[in-house]
Amino acid sequence: MNTSPDNERAGMPSGSGAERWLTCPGAQAAEAGKPDPQTEDAAEGDFLHEVMARGVSPVKDEHHPLIDFCRETRDRLVVDLLAADRGAPIIEERLWLRDADLEPVASCRVDYAIGGLHAAQDGAAMLAIDYKFGRRGADSAEINAQLRFTAAVLGQEFSPDVVFVAIVAPRAEGERVTVAKFTGQQCAAAHREMVAAAKRAMLPNQPRNPSPKACHYCRARGTSACPESIAAATALSIVPGAELSSDVLATLLDRCDMADRVIDAMRTEAKRRIEAGAVIPGWRLKPGATSKKVSAKDAWAKIGQQIGGSAFAECCTVSFAVPRLRLEVPDRGQVGQGSAGRY
Ligand code: SF4
Repeated sequence: MNTSPDNERAGMPSGSGAERWLTCPGAQAAEAGKPDPQTEDAAEGDFLHEVMARGVSPVKDEHHPLIDFCRETRDRLVVDLLAADRGAPIIEERLWLRDADLEPVASCRVDYAIGGLHAAQDGAAMLAIDYKFGRRGADSAEINAQLRFTAAVLGQEFSPDVVFVAIVAPRAEGERVTVAKFTGQQCAAAHREMVAAAKRAMLPNQPRNPSPKACHYCRARGTSACPESIAAATALSIVPGAELSSDVLATLLDRCDMADRVIDAMRTEAKRRIEAGAVIPGWRLKPGATSKKVSAKDAWAKIGQQIGGSAFAECCTVSFAVPRLRLEVPDRGQVGQGSAGRY
């Protein structure tokens, strides 16, 4: 049985890529058939989702606090938002977005969802939780397109009065838990938006619109299926006007972000081809150092105690976290969002 994501989704758009196909309708066709490069971080994320779904104990010490945080937060959200009369949870299940004729047009895999009575007022409510284990952080729940898609699907399937959608991101540097509330009307608006965009994304010859958010995880970036992403990356060299004003700098930083991802994708593809025996004129692979991330605690347990404190210290660099300014892109609002509700 082929369990590739494209097959599981029957070739239709996925809620996890909603940010992409909402702003770049041509991405669905451009990505079709492209392999999903499985990075170490993505594999770890899959594993931790599996641990959450199956309720088992994580293997690595460093994962225990992440799983504990997710489980405690999930239980607290359920108690705080839903009254006691609760149904069985939906765990790691694929749900389908349907159009007015009940034909499926897109789908999403829900990490965790549960229904019950709204704890603060009469009426049926649902809570959906999306776990994000990456270090990069995520958009907060009220502007996250994936969670707006989830609210649309839950509204369609269960017709609750209220849907709460939450992001639980135990490694995020900022807020680790954000919650958005969608009324029945907001779910219906999100449903109309998502059905229209998903149908558009399935049409041939749709425009491809590069942007840092859309291209970040797109499998077509830096490939011949999307010359626009390559053009956007190379446009970095074209500085409009002589003066580097703050506005121009902001535009260029956006392009830098996207260019980084496109360049990474091109290097990965070149390595894959050379490893497969292809010739890329002027380029070859050379052996490089491989590295493995180990937590300080694990390193001490494995080798530090054997070689002694001073020998261990000679192998380590100690750094102190001090407040500093760094560049980041703030959340950008979108149409049809749920109401803000920080938890
Ligand atoms: S790389 Fe960017 S522009 Fe190209 S298809 Fe993907 S999202 Fe669209």
